[in-house]
Amino acid sequence: MSDFGDEGQVAETLYREGAIAAALPAAPAGIQVVEDGRVVCAECGEPIPAARLGAMPGATRCRACQEDFEG
Ligand SMILES: [Zn+2]
Repeated sequence: MSDFGDEGQVAETLYREGAIAAALPAAPAGIQVVEDGRVVCAECGEPIPAARLGAMPGATRCRACQEDFEG
């Protein structure tokens, strides 16, 4: 019973993130990994530069890993 409130908060956060992701045009599939308020690459864990996030708000990988992923 003690963690009931936490579950609700997590669900609300997931809902909000999903709503934000759905509102972004051309956002690639995937969930962004955020550490210390910064989006980090889902592959290597390196912070994704703000310039890249400005161009690709839904980016889940750094440029190197994205190029690797796309082949
Ligand atoms: Zn990377």
